[in-house]
Amino acid sequence: MTCFSRGSEDWKWSISKRKAARPAEDAPHLTLYRQQLQLYAYALQKQNGQYPERLWLYWTDEARQERAFMEVPCGRDEIEAVIASVDDLATKIQQRQFAVRTTPPSMICQACDIRSLCRKEGILS
Ligand code: SF4
Repeated sequence: MTCFSRGSEDWKWSISKRKAARPAEDAPHLTLYRQQLQLYAYALQKQNGQYPERLWLYWTDEARQERAFMEVPCGRDEIEAVIASVDDLATKIQQRQFAVRTTPPSMICQACDIRSLCRKEGILS
């Protein structure tokens, strides 16, 4: 992922590049990508005092140019919901309530920094 923002003084847009074709709207990893970008917007807000006006995912391998950009909601409610889900996740980790119940799509695991640990523990073959 590459993130950059346009509008050097007011951080109006944030764009995240993904080296893939645009996925289906119900692709499981799309939710994660959206949340990741919304967390980035939250970090920008903490740094600059305001949220970006618009967030975009840009699919670099999308054959149809008009489908390469995908807007991600960045209203205060959406971002606060993501922050709440991260807080909930952090609480579960602190309480050691974690387990991989179902592995994500292989493309997610291939890009994961701790896949060797999952292989070692038999979660991945
Ligand atoms: S390698 Fe393990 S931790 Fe990483 S995404 Fe896959 S299942 Fe999750």
